[in-house]
Amino acid sequence: MHEMAITQSVIQAVCERMGDAPVQRVCLEIGTLSGVVADSVRFCFDLVTAGTTLEGASLEIIQPTGRARCRDCGAEFELNDLLVLCECGSANRELLAGEELKIREVEVLV
Ligand SMILES: [Zn+2]
Repeated sequence: MHEMAITQSVIQAVCERMGDAPVQRVCLEIGTLSGVVADSVRFCFDLVTAGTTLEGASLEIIQPTGRARCRDCGAEFELNDLLVLCECGSANRELLAGEELKIREVEVLV
């Protein structure tokens, strides 16, 4: 499963950054255009964190909406999938948001 590998690398990055400190909360940003299913990450999170310093940590997922700017007419618009064209009919657009996949916050117990 795609999300399993992603969740594993996220957890690994958190462990490397936080050392032995028990993690209480993790907040991830997963853009709606990233191709990653947030619910699957939630499901994998409990499995992957078992036995690590993240065991029992709560997981929060923020899903930024896709935004793009048209290179032809300059309009900015929201899009929920990559097939959406600009109002002017152009497919020549630059993605501004929605492809994020990052760790936004990690809270540890002190
Ligand atoms: Zn346009």
